[in-house]
Amino acid sequence: MQDEIALFNELSKLLLDLEKTQPVAKPIASSQLQNTLDLSLNENGISNEELKEILKTVVKRTPKTASKSFFNQLYGGRVNKATLGDLLAVMLNSSMYTYKVAGLHVGIEKEVISEICKLVGYTSNGAGTIAPGGSMSNMMALIMARDTKNRDIADEGQTLKMTLYTSEASHYSVSKNAALIGIGRNQVRLVKTNKGGEMSSEHLRELIEEDIEKGYIPFLVNATSGTTVLGAFDDLEAINTICKSFNLWLHVDGAYCGGVIFSTKYKHLVKGLEHTDSFSINAHKMLGTPLSCSIIVTQNKTQLHHSFSNDADYLYQTDTDDFNLGKTSLQCGRRNDALKFWTLWKFTGTKGLEKIVDKQFSLAKLARDYITKHKDYELYSFDDSISVCFKYKNISARDLCTALYENAELMVGYGNFNNQEFVRMVTINSQLEEEDIFAFFTSIESFVAQNMLKISVS
Ligand SMILES: *Cc1c(COP(=O)(O)O)cnc(C)c1O
Repeated sequence: MQDEIALFNELSKLLLDLEKTQPVAKPIASSQLQNTLDLSLNENGISNEELKEILKTVVKRTPKTASKSFFNQLYGGRVNKATLGDLLAVMLNSSMYTYKVAGLHVGIEKEVISEICKLVGYTSNGAGTIAPGGSMSNMMALIMARDTKNRDIADEGQTLKMTLYTSEASHYSVSKNAALIGIGRNQVRLVKTNKGGEMSSEHLRELIEEDIEKGYIPFLVNATSGTTVLGAFDDLEAINTICKSFNLWLHVDGAYCGGVIFSTKYKHLVKGLEHTDSFSINAHKMLGTPLSCSIIVTQNKTQLHHSFSNDADYLYQTDTDDFNLGKTSLQCGRRNDALKFWTLWKFTGTKGLEKIVDKQFSLAKLARDYITKHKDYELYSFDDSISVCFKYKNISARDLCTALYENAELMVGYGNFNNQEFVRMVTINSQLEEEDIFAFFTSIESFVAQNMLKISVS
């Protein structure tokens, strides 16, 4: 293994250098992939030297998500201590289902979950688990809500027409999960949003009342803390009042911006969170841990158990259910996603995580200020969001983002809201500094100046 560790160090050094010298990897057109790299798997193996050369090319040609030119997704950058924890997790290769196999890592995961429960405001009855991503965390919430409303469904299958509610601006996983868990996409009601992209509670109430009238059984509202495009926060207090009056499970999808629970300054954005039923947060987004690290917590420990435990004598042979984490998981064998987040949290403290979160908001504010001060730009997003949406010189956002990518200038994406398409720059990389934000705008401006003729104005 020593040779592989040495090679790993060499490849890591190459990557760190490239992130500085070529922050956007030259893209490979998908049609050219086979001609550009030899990805083939063959009858016979290759030598160490050949493998090293191939892996170097892989490192070189991989899109650079940790560089200062990556604003494309709801994650980015690299928080070193979290990466360290994840590298160790790969070496230790624990599986999180039983205490016998995972040992103290069970304690690490339980500590992370219990501290999240405290920050959310869930009482001693709070519990949770780590799912393979925010989509799966949302699925777990849907399942718990479904089983709470319909005790028989897990054994008997679906017999009732059950409806759920989520805003038009919410993540697509809600509909997908409704399809997967037997609720059906047609039973997903999309609630209108206001101008700021937040769920309209008036419309929510109307939809629920209409469904009850028609004989449907409403069971869940999915609220979003940080919508995927605008980064908007639904009003949890207003939604919660409605949920309580109709006896509905309220899940808060905080995959993107649930990290605000760490921030004294921004936790008002999730006011009322302690009265909700479940909450999910992706530590691989705002909290900078490597993919994936999605935590779901609930106010209702019994329900978590009821929905996810299944006896298996060949697996659960020692210790109590509280320490056999497989009893509350979607999975059987499960990667250790807790260690990386715990390593970071242990090192930097809750205060350090607060700084990571606050930094993203201050970078976003800097970007918004730049946009509003420069007349060639138009702003489409709002305060208290780390998604900064804009158009430059009325250029088609789609064409601009594609041209920037194809020319290896910047990685940034576009989004839509209210029939407007705009560039969506995400300031989620807490390692960035003010000058990196200015450099982002400068590269757009000089790129457009040089390539104006090739880019269309919409
Ligand atoms: C990213 C995101 C998800 C999905 O999380 P994955 O980890 O990508 O599965 C769900 N909801 C929201 C609001 C998100 O931003």
